[in-house]
Amino acid sequence: MQDGIRLTCLSCGQANRFPFTKLKAGPKCAKCGVMLVGDDVAALNDLRHDKAVRADDLPLIVDYWAPWCGPCRTMAPEFAAAAKALRFLARFAKIDTEQFPAISQRLQIRGIPLLILYAQGKEIARLSGARPASDIEAFVRQHL
Ligand code: ZN
Repeated sequence: MQDGIRLTCLSCGQANRFPFTKLKAGPKCAKCGVMLVGDDVAALNDLRHDKAVRADDLPLIVDYWAPWCGPCRTMAPEFAAAAKALRFLARFAKIDTEQFPAISQRLQIRGIPLLILYAQGKEIARLSGARPASDIEAFVRQHL
Protein backbone atom coordinates (compact mmCIF):
# COMPACT_ATOMS: atom_id res chain seq x y z
CA MET A 1 0.00 0.00 0.00
CA GLN A 2 3.02 2.33 -0.34
CA ASP A 3 1.52 3.83 -3.44
CA GLY A 4 -1.57 4.77 -1.53
CA ILE A 5 -5.17 4.14 -2.37
CA ARG A 6 -6.72 4.97 -5.71
CA LEU A 7 -10.36 5.95 -5.61
CA THR A 8 -12.62 7.38 -8.25
CA CYS A 9 -14.80 10.18 -6.94
CA LEU A 10 -18.31 8.75 -7.20
CA SER A 11 -19.72 12.26 -7.64
CA CYS A 12 -17.54 13.74 -10.38
CA GLY A 13 -15.40 10.85 -11.66
CA GLN A 14 -12.05 12.40 -10.76
CA ALA A 15 -9.31 9.83 -10.05
CA ASN A 16 -7.85 10.43 -6.60
CA ARG A 17 -4.93 8.93 -4.74
CA PHE A 18 -4.11 9.29 -1.05
CA PRO A 19 -2.02 7.46 1.57
CA PHE A 20 -3.60 4.44 3.20
CA THR A 21 -3.17 6.06 6.62
CA LYS A 22 -5.53 8.86 5.57
CA LEU A 23 -8.39 6.50 4.77
CA LYS A 24 -10.30 7.09 8.00
CA ALA A 25 -9.43 10.79 8.20
CA GLY A 26 -12.11 11.56 5.59
CA PRO A 27 -10.17 12.16 2.36
CA LYS A 28 -11.93 14.44 -0.09
CA CYS A 29 -12.02 14.59 -3.86
CA ALA A 30 -9.30 16.90 -5.20
CA LYS A 31 -11.70 18.25 -7.82
CA CYS A 32 -15.17 18.59 -6.27
CA GLY A 33 -14.46 18.25 -2.54
CA VAL A 34 -16.95 15.50 -1.62
CA MET A 35 -15.88 12.81 0.83
CA LEU A 36 -14.37 9.91 -1.08
CA VAL A 37 -15.34 7.37 1.56
CA GLY A 38 -18.66 8.61 2.82
CA ASP A 39 -21.36 6.54 4.45
CA ASP A 40 -24.06 7.36 1.96
CA VAL A 41 -25.05 5.72 -1.33
CA ALA A 42 -23.68 7.59 -4.34
CA ALA A 43 -25.77 7.80 -7.51
CA LEU A 44 -23.66 6.84 -10.51
CA ASN A 45 -23.93 7.53 -14.20
CA ASP A 46 -22.52 5.10 -16.78
CA LEU A 47 -19.10 6.76 -17.03
CA ARG A 48 -18.50 6.94 -13.29
CA HIS A 49 -19.82 3.40 -12.93
CA ASP A 50 -17.22 2.05 -15.35
CA LYS A 51 -14.37 4.09 -13.89
CA ALA A 52 -15.14 3.10 -10.29
CA VAL A 53 -15.58 -0.57 -11.17
CA ARG A 54 -12.30 -0.65 -13.06
CA ALA A 55 -9.83 1.30 -11.02
CA ASP A 56 -10.68 1.50 -7.34
CA ASP A 57 -8.65 0.10 -4.47
CA LEU A 58 -11.65 -0.23 -2.17
CA PRO A 59 -14.36 -2.76 -2.96
CA LEU A 60 -17.49 -1.29 -4.49
CA ILE A 61 -21.03 -2.59 -4.26
CA VAL A 62 -23.53 -1.33 -6.79
CA ASP A 63 -27.31 -1.45 -6.54
CA TYR A 64 -28.84 -1.84 -10.01
CA TRP A 65 -32.32 -0.42 -9.67
CA ALA A 66 -35.07 1.52 -11.43
CA PRO A 67 -37.69 4.03 -10.24
CA TRP A 68 -40.63 1.84 -11.40
CA CYS A 69 -39.41 -1.16 -9.37
CA GLY A 70 -41.25 -1.46 -6.05
CA PRO A 71 -38.86 -3.95 -4.43
CA CYS A 72 -35.98 -1.65 -5.41
CA ARG A 73 -37.58 1.22 -3.51
CA THR A 74 -38.25 -1.08 -0.55
CA MET A 75 -34.61 -2.12 -0.45
CA ALA A 76 -33.13 1.39 -0.77
CA PRO A 77 -33.19 2.21 2.99
CA GLU A 78 -31.79 -1.25 3.78
CA PHE A 79 -28.95 -0.71 1.34
CA ALA A 80 -28.31 2.72 2.89
CA ALA A 81 -28.18 1.18 6.38
CA ALA A 82 -25.66 -1.42 5.20
CA ALA A 83 -23.58 1.40 3.67
CA LYS A 84 -23.30 3.05 7.08
CA ALA A 85 -22.39 -0.23 8.78
CA LEU A 86 -19.69 -1.10 6.26
CA ARG A 87 -18.05 2.29 5.77
CA PHE A 88 -14.28 1.88 5.06
CA LEU A 89 -14.79 -1.75 4.06
CA ALA A 90 -16.63 -1.07 0.82
CA ARG A 91 -18.18 1.88 -0.97
CA PHE A 92 -21.86 1.79 -1.85
CA ALA A 93 -23.37 3.16 -5.01
CA LYS A 94 -26.47 2.79 -7.14
CA ILE A 95 -27.28 3.20 -10.80
CA ASP A 96 -30.65 3.70 -12.45
CA THR A 97 -30.92 0.94 -15.08
CA GLU A 98 -33.81 2.69 -16.80
CA GLN A 99 -31.66 5.75 -17.38
CA PHE A 100 -28.61 3.67 -18.36
CA PRO A 101 -29.97 0.53 -20.07
CA ALA A 102 -26.69 -0.23 -21.85
CA ILE A 103 -25.15 -1.12 -18.48
CA SER A 104 -27.86 -3.72 -17.79
CA GLN A 105 -27.37 -5.23 -21.21
CA ARG A 106 -23.63 -5.44 -20.89
CA LEU A 107 -23.85 -7.02 -17.44
CA GLN A 108 -26.71 -9.30 -18.54
CA ILE A 109 -28.96 -8.14 -15.75
CA ARG A 110 -32.36 -9.80 -16.09
CA GLY A 111 -34.00 -8.83 -12.83
CA ILE A 112 -33.71 -5.99 -10.36
CA PRO A 113 -32.92 -5.11 -7.69
CA LEU A 114 -29.52 -6.69 -8.18
CA LEU A 115 -26.38 -6.01 -6.17
CA ILE A 116 -22.95 -6.63 -7.65
CA LEU A 117 -19.82 -6.55 -5.53
CA TYR A 118 -16.58 -5.52 -7.23
CA ALA A 119 -13.01 -5.66 -5.96
CA GLN A 120 -9.71 -5.02 -7.75
CA GLY A 121 -11.44 -4.36 -11.02
CA LYS A 122 -13.38 -7.60 -11.09
CA GLU A 123 -16.88 -8.74 -10.35
CA ILE A 124 -16.80 -10.83 -7.16
CA ALA A 125 -20.40 -11.83 -6.57
CA ARG A 126 -24.07 -10.99 -7.20
CA LEU A 127 -27.03 -10.86 -4.85
CA SER A 128 -30.48 -10.58 -6.38
CA GLY A 129 -33.84 -9.57 -4.96
CA ALA A 130 -34.82 -7.11 -2.24
CA ARG A 131 -32.83 -7.90 0.90
CA PRO A 132 -32.69 -6.58 4.44
CA ALA A 133 -29.58 -4.68 5.58
CA SER A 134 -28.36 -7.70 7.55
CA ASP A 135 -28.31 -9.87 4.39
CA ILE A 136 -26.44 -7.19 2.45
CA GLU A 137 -23.87 -6.84 5.21
CA ALA A 138 -23.40 -10.61 5.45
CA PHE A 139 -23.03 -10.84 1.66
CA VAL A 140 -20.27 -8.22 1.58
CA ARG A 141 -18.40 -9.62 4.59
CA GLN A 142 -18.58 -13.15 3.23
CA HIS A 143 -16.83 -12.18 0.00
CA LEU A 144 -14.17 -9.76 1.27
ZN1 ZN B 1 -15.21 14.68 -7.10
